[in-house]
Amino acid sequence: MASYTFKGGVHIPNLYLVKKPEVRQVAPPEQVVLPLQQRVGGKQKPCVKVGDKVLTGQVIAKTLGKYPTYMHASISGVVLAIEKHPIPHPSGIDGVCIVIDSDGRDKWIEIEKCDQDFLRCAPSKVIQRIREAGIVGMGGAGFPTHIKISNAQGAQTLIVNATECEPDIMCDDALMQHYPREIIRGVEVLMHGCGARKAIIAIENDKQEAFNSLLMYNFNEHIEIVQIPTKYTSGAEKILIKTLLDIEIPSGEFASDYGVLCQNVGTVKAIYDAVIDNKPLISRIVTVTGSAVKEPRNYEARLGTSFASVVAQSKPNNNLHQIRMGGMMMGVDVPSVQYSICKTTNCIFVNNATLKPSTQSCIRCGQCNEVCPVGLLPQQLFWYAKSENMDRAMDYNLRDCIECRCCDIVCPSHIPLAQYFSFAKALYYKQTKEKQKTDIARERFEFKEFRVERNKTERAEMMARKKEELKKKMAEDKTQKDKIAQAVARVKNKGVLRK
Ligand code: SF4
Ligand code: SF4
Repeated sequence: MASYTFKGGVHIPNLYLVKKPEVRQVAPPEQVVLPLQQRVGGKQKPCVKVGDKVLTGQVIAKTLGKYPTYMHASISGVVLAIEKHPIPHPSGIDGVCIVIDSDGRDKWIEIEKCDQDFLRCAPSKVIQRIREAGIVGMGGAGFPTHIKISNAQGAQTLIVNATECEPDIMCDDALMQHYPREIIRGVEVLMHGCGARKAIIAIENDKQEAFNSLLMYNFNEHIEIVQIPTKYTSGAEKILIKTLLDIEIPSGEFASDYGVLCQNVGTVKAIYDAVIDNKPLISRIVTVTGSAVKEPRNYEARLGTSFASVVAQSKPNNNLHQIRMGGMMMGVDVPSVQYSICKTTNCIFVNNATLKPSTQSCIRCGQCNEVCPVGLLPQQLFWYAKSENMDRAMDYNLRDCIECRCCDIVCPSHIPLAQYFSFAKALYYKQTKEKQKTDIARERFEFKEFRVERNKTERAEMMARKKEELKKKMAEDKTQKDKIAQAVARVKNKGVLRK
């Protein structure tokens, strides 16, 4: 068996591991709050209004722009409001949400059946079904799945990312143990959709039960299931591709450019639901864990269910809490549990509030350089980011930083390096945008000057040409010349007479 590994990265122990593979089903809530702002692709437009009755699975909002996506009602009931609520978005701002009050029936809309044998459907029909089911990358990126598949048409290899990667998140592990048959079938659907002849499902080697479950249901010789070392950041797309296929994807290029399509295992299960079971994406598995909960657990909850109602089932203590959405490494701190579960919510951390250690000066130990999984020099980057020397930071490939925080956690001076890099990238792109704006304004001004100057020259040339033509014409006009001579003579004679 091949031994898959990669340079850099860190081993992080699981501290608050969910002990049982159980997935507790959360009953459809009395109310759901569904944000219109998507992680990628802008805001969706509601296709319902306040007071409308909706059924579970009904389309209630969509975008038709560059990245068209659909949102469905996750319960049946009445649209209570379309108004601003706190949304689980890294920006931390409020966003417009559709609020549905349950009618207690959870009555599904009738969805047109797709041909059960998906292999007879054209790949374009499979992609269309995925689009209409509102599926986005469920590993956290939230990129519309149908776009990713369309861009990877003709891919040779499909990689299913089942690494989970960050410590303590167990939602994909639970998913694989509960739905192995659906996942294998979902992989086949996806292979048909993108045209890949081969698929590799990559699982970290601490998820033995999940690995066994998938092996038991895999009868397809074109699907390989492999174990990779449990090391953070094994699940980052380019790192996973390098680990499995030894393909190095350069900065600014994409997996699809190299005949590879990468999809998260949760997304694959959602694809199965959409294409085989004709169900849109209206629920997901979420891990609730952390130092402040007595019963860390996985829950399957409808989208729009409040964090608070799910967290309450894990019995949090009464201390002051720090809430984090997503993993401890790449998640986002949020002020409270007033948010609702969305398509990319894989984990809710509830920790006892603690003081962060104070930041000290860099001692140039070089430990950060050792662990960077993309081969950057965080120590150098830090100096340039801190002094806002963006050009030098870019020379050191700042744009390739995946903000994984490996450098942060080994830094003995507790410098929040990834935060600096995130800020520096934002500043660079802002400056570049502003520079582009200034360049455009300057070019416009210069073009205007050039136009005025060119008009002047053209006018002068035209006048000179006309004068020349006139002269020529006059020279050729003999009669005219004579008339002039006679006139001159007359004038002269008059002058003589006067004398
Ligand atoms: S945050 Fe960026 S610089 Fe630091 S280890 Fe990760 S990729 Fe490297
Ligand atoms: S790990 Fe921290 S202290 Fe050590 S070189 Fe990197 S930034 Fe400096």
